[in-house]
Amino acid sequence: MSRIRGKDTRPEIAVRSVLHRLGLRFRKHGLFRNERLPGRPDVVMAARRTVVVVHGCFWHRHRGCSAAYTPKSNLPFWLAKFEGNVARDRRNAVVLRRLGWRVITVWECETSDHQKLARMLKKRLRVSQLSP
Ligand SMILES: [Zn+2]
Repeated sequence: MSRIRGKDTRPEIAVRSVLHRLGLRFRKHGLFRNERLPGRPDVVMAARRTVVVVHGCFWHRHRGCSAAYTPKSNLPFWLAKFEGNVARDRRNAVVLRRLGWRVITVWECETSDHQKLARMLKKRLRVSQLSP
């Protein structure tokens, strides 16, 4: 899942449907006032000045996650690839924060259980006052 742009992946769809059910309004494709935000965050909540970035555990190296294993063959290729992804993620988050955005990262492995995901997003978005 090397971020096929324009194509929604299962984790992205899960996050959006949970946010939708929480009654939160957002935009897709990293758009804010018709401009693309750095890294095109999957969800942009302009009213809350918050973006949600959904990362695949393998490609974006979810620390301590079993899905973030390192293939044994072509090791230099993978290490360079992973390093590039992680560096880009970090850079994008830094720029977004500098622009005044709160950046919430959701990992792919956190999206399979929708109830858990909803609890986590509510907590991180501080929307506990809303009904589920
Ligand atoms: Zn993970």
